[in-house]
Amino acid sequence: MHASHRTLIPSLLTLLCLSVIQSPSLQAADAEPPVITPGKSASPSPQSPPSDAIILFDGKDLSKWRKPDGTDAGWRVDNGCAEVNGTGDIFTRQEFGAVQLHVEWATPAEVKGDGQGRGNSGIYLMGRYEIQVLDCYQNKTYPNGQTAAFYGNNAPLVNACRKPGELQTYDIIFHPPQPVSGGASKPGSFTVLHNGVLVQDHIPVEGSPTTAAPLKGVVPAGPLMLQDHGNPVRYSNVWIRRL
Ligand code: MG
Repeated sequence: MHASHRTLIPSLLTLLCLSVIQSPSLQAADAEPPVITPGKSASPSPQSPPSDAIILFDGKDLSKWRKPDGTDAGWRVDNGCAEVNGTGDIFTRQEFGAVQLHVEWATPAEVKGDGQGRGNSGIYLMGRYEIQVLDCYQNKTYPNGQTAAFYGNNAPLVNACRKPGELQTYDIIFHPPQPVSGGASKPGSFTVLHNGVLVQDHIPVEGSPTTAAPLKGVVPAGPLMLQDHGNPVRYSNVWIRRL
């Protein structure tokens, strides 16, 4: 072997390994999505559930939700909404794999903080793959961390945010990664509409999530999680259909 190959090949191997083990940059070079104005929403709720949906939150109680230790979810329920109140993330008691999910949410009407500190929460499919909830109405942050981003992975196609305090909708179609022979996995996918506008168009979901480091490998199902990020974000009208 030529002397330069003996040094070049190990270097290339090192580079390859580094690129595999590094998690995607949260400051990735995604272009900033254009800001658009979504269509007007119906009142009070843009979309009532279909007959075959599992109702996860109808504005009255959080009986379908738990804390990590299995005890009752502690978020405040008031005026048809469940509000983040510093008692921690909440998880559905049921587990889900491939789903269609509808969630309504609102960031605080009283605007505080900026960047990732303004109205931050999140919707974690299977407790591990986050569609970001954030107030990005006239608030800039890194594209793959903004509202409707597949957090840390993919920026939304557009910024379709309503104003702080207004109810917004996510309609999410999620397929989990699938195991294939040899311990590998076939990517799943996210398709997301924000306020009726396509923002994630069949984006691949890899087997090892980037935002929940201890959760490795491919699993068939997991609980839906709503994130307590310390900001009083409200949720309403949450329903899901198994696919
Ligand atoms: Mg979040």
